[in-house]
Amino acid sequence: MTTARLLGPADIRTLASELDITPTKKLGQNFLHDPNTVRMIVTTAQFTDVTNRHVLEVGPGLGSLTLGLVTACEKVTAIEIDPRLAARLPRTIAEFAPDYADRLTVSNRDALTVSPQDIDMSTPPTALVANLPYNVSVPILLHLLAEFPSIARVVVMVQAEVADRLAARPGTKIYGVPSVKAAFYGQVRRAGTIGKNVFWPAPKIDSGLVSIDCTHPYSSSLRDTVFPLIDAAFLQRRKTLRAALSGVYGSASQAEEALRRAQIDPTLRGEKLDISDFIRLATSGQSSR
Ligand code: SAM
Repeated sequence: MTTARLLGPADIRTLASELDITPTKKLGQNFLHDPNTVRMIVTTAQFTDVTNRHVLEVGPGLGSLTLGLVTACEKVTAIEIDPRLAARLPRTIAEFAPDYADRLTVSNRDALTVSPQDIDMSTPPTALVANLPYNVSVPILLHLLAEFPSIARVVVMVQAEVADRLAARPGTKIYGVPSVKAAFYGQVRRAGTIGKNVFWPAPKIDSGLVSIDCTHPYSSSLRDTVFPLIDAAFLQRRKTLRAALSGVYGSASQAEEALRRAQIDPTLRGEKLDISDFIRLATSGQSSR
């Protein structure tokens, strides 16, 4: 099979003007026009014979990353909210990577609400690789991880500061709800920084890559118990866990009891707990809820 030709600045300009696309901030439309960055993202994904079986891409845009993914993966489902971009994508892949065009399915949907009924699940998605729209990157990431538990590997590009927050460790200032919730699904790592000039239009801030190895087995009922505890613990960061969790457990003293049962100091703040602490709290004995 021939390899794909990746999109450079002239291709992006031509496609955008053909479609009469003026990129919007609202949809986070910053298109990659640098083949080296596309290769770097695909390399970072470290696809294996398992994780390359069915890749979800959110926001394929003009197809820059999609072209890298179709050559590396057996099947790619690209979810794009903008109907003009979704409609053009199959033709772009057929033009630039004709031998791989049948690997692609495009779904013109909002990734925030997509569910397994909306895509071909004959092989459930094994990976998520995307240059995410920045203003909704964390909600999309957490939504897809929840909806598609078969995802074993994630590589996403987000704003650099969001990447730092996702990969933050307990006890740091930037550690928060996204860090703990992402860690629920697996090992989260910061995987590189990307400058502004590889995009058209160039965003104001740098971007960062985040990888997640989703190795933790979990049940959705565990997640439904753990996530409200995480939300409550970080709602007012300055509060002790005893106070912050009083609403969830009915009173401060019942929260303290639950924390002690899980061997967690009730005077700590949420930012000190890692995901295994939250899981222990959720699973250690009865609460009054
Ligand atoms: N992947 C392309 C690239 O790297 O050049 C484009 C990335 S651009 C940062 C984000 C893309 O996500 C845009 O194509 C935008 O239309 C799309 N998008 C924005 N919000 C979305 C949503 N809620 N669901 C699906 N796609 C969305």
